[in-house]
Amino acid sequence: SIRPLVAGNWKMNGLKADLAIGSEVAKGYDRALKSAVDLAICPPASLLYLASAALVGTRIATGGQDCSMQEAGAFTGEVSAAMLADAGATFAIVGHSERRTLHGETNATVKAKAEAAQRALLVPIVCVGETKAEREAGKAVAVVRKQLRGSVPEGSTAATLVVAYEPVWAIGTGLTPTAADVAEMHEAIRGELGRMLGKAAAAGVRLLYGGSVKPSNAAELMNVAHVDGALVGGASLKAEDFLAIARAC
Ligand code: 13P
Repeated sequence: SIRPLVAGNWKMNGLKADLAIGSEVAKGYDRALKSAVDLAICPPASLLYLASAALVGTRIATGGQDCSMQEAGAFTGEVSAAMLADAGATFAIVGHSERRTLHGETNATVKAKAEAAQRALLVPIVCVGETKAEREAGKAVAVVRKQLRGSVPEGSTAATLVVAYEPVWAIGTGLTPTAADVAEMHEAIRGELGRMLGKAAAAGVRLLYGGSVKPSNAAELMNVAHVDGALVGGASLKAEDFLAIARAC
């Protein structure tokens, strides 16, 4: 069976003092948890190096929240995948709905970023998810399949890809899909990845659920078939909540 991953996306939150959250998570990452689940913290880029350095030896990984599709050069404000790796990251979230919506990222952009991450030996966490209108129109699965076909690099394997299903309407709203809806979607994602990457590769890719995951709903969501962990926003800023979610895997 797949070893789950719980990743915390701090979004645009966190100053140096907040690295204490990481230390507290590390303290609570005891033997039982270590044997059961991988953890990662994705702080803002400004804290990535310090966070990675502080977590050396804890087996808690770090990740960036985005990366450039370019290698280097005249791209003011951008951070390359190699820079994230150099700062200690293992992962790079790409195609988060906030990037897709607020920064106009298309599937092609997301795929190019995921490929850049893989070239730098980072594991991209490729985010997909439907809007409320798309779900209400009965198009959720079709939308997500199309996002996967457009955003996942060819040749990705279980070792080089993580996918996060984050329904846009569930992010930061306190709303979550039913377990049955998550089951349907994650099965569809596994199936689509199978057609794209081959069944053997797809079988091991970690499929995270994200969107209003908190300690009170984590067990139900994490027990759904083909859910191999969580991408946690708000609740990842509280060590106790983040650890409780990890324990639910
Ligand atoms: P919340 O957990 O705050 O809903 O955010 C989810 C998310 O966007 C993680 O990437």
